[in-house]
Amino acid sequence: MNEDLIQASSGTPWSAWQHAAHLARATWMTPQQLCPPGRRLVLVAPHPDDEILMAGGLLTHFRGREADLLIISATDGEGSHPGSAQWSEHRLRRQRPLESRQALVQLDLDPNRLEWRRLNLKDGGLPREEAFLTNHLSQCLRADDLLMATWRGDGHCDHEAVGRAAAQAALARNAQLIEVPVWAWHWAQPDDPRLPWPRAHRVQLTEASLARKRKALAAHVSQLVPDGPQPAVLPAHLQECLLQPFELVFL
Ligand SMILES: [Zn+2]
Repeated sequence: MNEDLIQASSGTPWSAWQHAAHLARATWMTPQQLCPPGRRLVLVAPHPDDEILMAGGLLTHFRGREADLLIISATDGEGSHPGSAQWSEHRLRRQRPLESRQALVQLDLDPNRLEWRRLNLKDGGLPREEAFLTNHLSQCLRADDLLMATWRGDGHCDHEAVGRAAAQAALARNAQLIEVPVWAWHWAQPDDPRLPWPRAHRVQLTEASLARKRKALAAHVSQLVPDGPQPAVLPAHLQECLLQPFELVFL
């Protein structure tokens, strides 16, 4: 576990990433190239909001083909505000899945027509559930599925556990793995050698997709408002990195 990476960093702003040579070299691809119609995408989100941070733009392309989408929410995200009087675990467990649902509506998707599984695992406890996750993913994967997960090196224990479990399941079931960095945007330096740049691709987003992604992220109110003296869970610079006209994926 290396949450230290996140804690220790004051955050890398988009203005620094903008000139990163490795990022500039990442191959562009269209959402249709990554997820051709008829091919199912299984997206595993460690916490509610990760599905938007990872792939909110890509997901807008599933409008009208919601049957090609399976979203798996590993946790209900109850651990985002430790010790907060305003945001108790009980409240977050109710609130955050509702925010996820609202965000899917903002993407113009019909939440009733896509498959959405909530595993209700403990927020912060996914490393202990890795075998369960691997097994669960292996069981629900079909031949030719695309399996999208947070990157194994993302710096958050839950994100890394989901990445490792997905990698094992993809290998076992011969599915294509797509790993997505989320918190790495915060702690990594531009051209950081710890990121797997040779596998990096940029999925191009239209202005319309990006506008929907922005609205969808705004639905995750609990992560965006300061909690008394505590700043918002999602720092502004991280939001800016994840609201660019592309989504970075490692294939
Ligand atoms: Zn997360």
